[in-house]
Amino acid sequence: ILSINNLKKTFGEHEVLSDISLDVTAGEVLTIIGPSGSGKSTLLRCINLLEQPTAGEIIYNDANVLAPGYDITKYRAKVGMVFQSFNLFNNLNVLDNCTVGQQTVLGRSKEEAEKIALENLAKVGMDPYIKAKPRQLSGGQMQRVAIARAVSMDPDILLFDEPTSALDPEMVDDVLDSMKALAHTGLTMILVTHEMGFAKDVSDKVIFMDQGYVAEIGTPEQIFNHPTEARTQEFLKRYL
Ligand code: ATP
Ligand code: MG
Repeated sequence: ILSINNLKKTFGEHEVLSDISLDVTAGEVLTIIGPSGSGKSTLLRCINLLEQPTAGEIIYNDANVLAPGYDITKYRAKVGMVFQSFNLFNNLNVLDNCTVGQQTVLGRSKEEAEKIALENLAKVGMDPYIKAKPRQLSGGQMQRVAIARAVSMDPDILLFDEPTSALDPEMVDDVLDSMKALAHTGLTMILVTHEMGFAKDVSDKVIFMDQGYVAEIGTPEQIFNHPTEARTQEFLKRYL
């Protein structure tokens, strides 16, 4: 569904992504791990075009989204993102948070958008809170709303950038459970996380990134149990 070929991103003189290539097939869960500053967030932001890559290709369903003339509006609507900091609209209640994008971007009616939002809020256990404002919710609850909102947009690919790292420990499992349920629906997911147990459990493929490169790629079994690169071994030691 997505192939990244020789992607580069520089900020001024600073080369953050040096040469990234990877493939994600439909329904796959790809996890990206790696040290702080290795370029994980920048890679996700390049994939959904929050950042413009400096060079390389992003092939989505056989077309290069970076080619001149490509309709990136449609592509952006198909690639959702869940952020560490939730990014909910604070002035809107839970239900409206989950319907506004459906109405404005997808052109759905209010009734249809609410029906879809309610289904997805129920899946993450947040349907009792539809009238609540974000400030009345815990971090874990806000993140589950953000997930329901992203899923309500019918993404082909959903990106997660450390979705649990801003949460109190007791909230983490609820969010991970919601993500796991989503993975089982066959949604294509690319996630950056430090939750290694979770990554091992749900991922089809794991990438270890270091200094703007894919240092190692493999199955969870290969990366977590038998990493071949010294850098991967060093990094994982900190999580054992
Ligand atoms: P972390 O685990 O801490 O989230 P990361 O792997 O997600 O790290 P990035 O956020 O992608 O790392 O940052 C990689 C490098 O790119 C860092 O050195 C950062 O300072 C730099 N960088 C990121 N965004 C920008 C920007 N908009 N302008 C300049 N430099 C940036
Ligand atoms: Mg990051």
